[in-house]
Parts: sequence; structure tokens; C-alpha cells
Amino acid sequence: MGRTGVVPYAAWQKKLVKSVSPPSATGVAPYAGGLFDFTIRRLVIVLNDMKITKLEVYILRAPDTGRPHWVSHFIVPRANEILVRMHTDEGIEGIGISTSYTPIEAAIHAFRGGIADLVVGEDPLAPESLYQKLFGLTWQRFAHEKGWSREALVRISAAVDIACWDVIGKAAKLPLYRLFGGYRSEVPCYVTCAYYRDGKSLAELRDEMQMLKAQGHQGFKAKAGGVSLAEDMQRLELVREVIGDDKDLMVDVNRGWDLATAIEGARLLEPLRPRWLEEPVRWADDRRELKLLAQKTRIPLSAGESELTSYACRALLEEQAIEILQFDCTMMGGFTEGRKLAALCELNHVQVAPHHDCFIHAHIVAASPAGCIVESFTDPERDPLQAELFEDPPKIANGWLHLKEQPGLGLTLSAKALAKFGERIV
Ligand SMILES: [Mg+2]
Repeated sequence: MGRTGVVPYAAWQKKLVKSVSPPSATGVAPYAGGLFDFTIRRLVIVLNDMKITKLEVYILRAPDTGRPHWVSHFIVPRANEILVRMHTDEGIEGIGISTSYTPIEAAIHAFRGGIADLVVGEDPLAPESLYQKLFGLTWQRFAHEKGWSREALVRISAAVDIACWDVIGKAAKLPLYRLFGGYRSEVPCYVTCAYYRDGKSLAELRDEMQMLKAQGHQGFKAKAGGVSLAEDMQRLELVREVIGDDKDLMVDVNRGWDLATAIEGARLLEPLRPRWLEEPVRWADDRRELKLLAQKTRIPLSAGESELTSYACRALLEEQAIEILQFDCTMMGGFTEGRKLAALCELNHVQVAPHHDCFIHAHIVAASPAGCIVESFTDPERDPLQAELFEDPPKIANGWLHLKEQPGLGLTLSAKALAKFGERIV
């Protein structure tokens, strides 16, 4: 399928002259027409500088309901995100998102301190270059003088990178999952559930599970590690009973157990046949403890969402601690690093099941043979942004997310949701 007309003829001729100083007076005469014409048009996309002209930045927050969602030992924010709208001199706009468990004020500080000025003027078609520029600030005196924290810089570099890739996909007129490899166009999708909430009874847990089952899900990830093993087993047995034997059950401890408890927890869980056990052990030495736990259970172990770098995710693979990697492109690395990790997983026979933001991560999962499944939050009380942020997101039905053919991320921001959840920062 020819994709001519990416850039109008006159425009690309001018850009080619500007960019690569061709040998002839007209610049393109020796190659005009046919296949050569098409080839040069595609080259122009790569060689020509596109420029980022402006970043619009919003913080997305949801109103406090007064009844937070707890995992094993901390509250997960319902919405705590940076939204970047990237404008370019080609008139293409890209969007990027970054999410965080920790207060987002550090990122606000960096934006108000002028970090967007380092992005304006850069080429969105060179995401590796821009990512290295922003991530590299984490070891530069300049960033320290500005008071930009390491975590804020990691989050911001992720959001900017995703916006770059959205622009690239739109410039190439391809959805990102096709640009990344196009392994398949629909991906399995599960729902995360069974949070701890003050006063939540087993009857309420049953209602929640029935509501989510009625939505058609085929996989359910339940929280654990916040109460005694005996109480957790009661909860998880109820979850298994409601969803039935033919559905997938995953268990997520959010780094809540010590190694001994994790070994005993895994032993008790085996009859419930979890598809995976996620972040079972405390953070401090989790790579080594995951490896030790893996030697004592047949349940596949997973981790990755808490890592701040792709190098740390690589270390999980090197330790042979996990069978499923759960990096989050919106928390660190963007697609630039996420694609490298997906390739690393494929070569190491580890599956990719990214954390959160299914409409973004579906592109990575669909593009790679290592892509396993995406995580959704279809209870709007838990994640109002999944429900409302985009006008026409990909459909989730019967345990599958169906990717769309619109270029880039294929996502359109809802003006209504932006007005409801967003606060313009710069
Ligand atoms: Mg998790």
C-alpha cells in the first residue's frame, strides 16, 4: 500500500533542499517520479526537522471521595497525572500522559520552573534525542539548581516521549501499534479490583465482583497483602467463586509481604490457580527475594511497575526473578524505553503486561510477540480518567481491547473531561 502524499510535493521539495543539499539545481530532478519519488518522500519525514512550538501542560486530578482505595499498604490516587499537549510547526498535535503514586507537585514545580523551554524547538521526530536530553537532566547540576527532582524528570520525560510518538504516528499516518511492529490488532485485557476500603465487607466485595463480571471481563486482578493471610484467603476465595473457574485470577500484593509470608501466601494461593502473583515481596531486596520465592512456587511472578528506570527492569530479568514484566511507559521511559524493554522480554522469554493506562500500553502489547495483556480499570469510581478522558477510546469487550486505525495514539481528548479534571500548569 503506497503512502504517497505524506508531505505535499512542493513542501517536501523545499524541505529536501534545505535538509540534505541535493546535487542538482532543482534538488530532485534525477529522482523525480515513480518509486524514487515515493522513497524520497518517506526520507523527507526522517531528514526534515519538525519543530515543537509549544507545550500545554495540565495536571489531572479527581475529586476526593473521602473513601480511598487502598492496596496492601498505601492509597492509590484515583487520578494523579500530567497531561502534555505538544504543538508543532507542522500543525500536528501530540498528547502524552504521565502518572505517579507520589505527589505530583514536583512535576508542577519543574514545569513552572521552565522545563518546557528545553522541549520547545526540539524535533518530535527524534524521540531518542529528546528523551536523552530530559532524562539526562537527572545527573546534571543545572537540574539540581532548578530544584527539579529525579522522579519529576523521569515522569516528565515519559509524558513528553509519548507525545512525540503520537506526533510521529500522525506524521506517518499510522497507528503506533503498526509503526511499532503490528503483531496483532487486538489484545487481551483484564480488570483490577478488590481494593481495600474502610468498612468494606465481603458482601460489598461480592457486589463489586459481580458488577465487573457482568461487564464481560475474562481476567480479574485482586489486591492482597493488606490484612492477615487468613482474611486475604477468604477474600480471594470469594473472588474465585464469583468469577468462576473458567476466568483468570491474578493476585497483586503491591510489595506488601516479607519473604516468609510470601512463600506461605503462594502456597495457600496455589489451589486458586492464579495466573500470576504480582509484586509479592517488600521493595528493599525484591529482586533477590522474588528469585528465592520463584524457587518455591509454581505461580508465575510479576513485577516492574515500581521501577524508575529501564535498567532496573532489565535487572529483574537478569535475576530471573519474574516471568511477566509490568513496566509502565507513563511512569518512566515512554514508548522509547518501553519498546526496548518489550524486545528484551521477547528475547528472554518473559511476557509483557504493562501497568495501567490500557489505551496507551495497548500499542506496545499489540506490537510485540511478547505482548501478553493490558490492565484496565472499568469501575469509574476507581479510575474516572479511563472512563472520561478520551472521546472515543478503543472498545473493551469480552476480555479484549480492540485497537483503532487512527494514526498515532488514536486518542482524542474530551474537552468536557479536561474542564472537569484538568488544571492548566503552563
Ligand atoms: Mg500492581
